[in-house]
Amino acid sequence: TGRGATAGVLIRNAEALEILAKVDVLVVDKTGTLTEGKPRLMTVAPLPNMTEIDLLRLAGGLEQSSEHPLAGAIVSGAREKGFALAGAKDFRSLTGKGVMGTVEGRSIAVGTRPLFNELGIDAESLVAQAEPLRQEGQTVMFVAIDGKPAGLLGVADPVKASTPEAIELLHREGLRIVMLTGDSKTTAQAVARRLHIDDVHAEVLPEQKTAVIKQLQAEGHVVAMAGDGINDAPALAQAQVGIA
Ligand code: ADP
Ligand code: MG
Repeated sequence: TGRGATAGVLIRNAEALEILAKVDVLVVDKTGTLTEGKPRLMTVAPLPNMTEIDLLRLAGGLEQSSEHPLAGAIVSGAREKGFALAGAKDFRSLTGKGVMGTVEGRSIAVGTRPLFNELGIDAESLVAQAEPLRQEGQTVMFVAIDGKPAGLLGVADPVKASTPEAIELLHREGLRIVMLTGDSKTTAQAVARRLHIDDVHAEVLPEQKTAVIKQLQAEGHVVAMAGDGINDAPALAQAQVGIA
């Protein structure tokens, strides 16, 4: 924009710049693109069969093995409360859904409702509690211990200070802004409403992000995609212009 210019813009080829002028839809990833990508643990809500201490200590132990920013928030939150975290065994990560493994001899899973579905765990007892937190814009993760729902963890990722103005300027240029995220519909819509995002695709698995871009292109749009380039790489490549 030329205002408050930041250093470090690398343009890979001149063609990208030419196409950029024709772009009418900008697709953006939520986490780390619109938001700071530095989430903080806000909510620890155990079900009645569980204590807050056990819930956070066991989930924190498991998340030490994950590189996801959400995992970092849970681990930091647990450490700030002074918990010593045991390491995880048999750690597995399902991209876009969550993580599972064994901590202190107990089987732990942290992630989305689809993760619970896949593991055959009923998430119903957690859904109602999750909703108001999501309406505030928190990202809510479900926790299961030994195959049973145990509680939820809520994390907030502040919107970048520069995001509202950036979106306003792009709107003035006539661009439509579409948000793409693996997060829940409620959380995504809460963030989108605040930022005047035009359209939201939520609960999208990483491999489905490309399909959303293809669909927009099939409708005749020239699409740029801005993402963190980690699990968004295929979608960045599919867009006419990829901004990482
Ligand atoms: P985004 O599109 O915002 O980058 P991801 O596709 O990485 O999101 O993740 C989608 C959802 O999967 C998250 O909102 C979270 O609920 C769940 N998830 C992903 N990784 C983890 C993890 N390490 N621990 C718990 N939940 C996770
Ligand atoms: Mg991401």
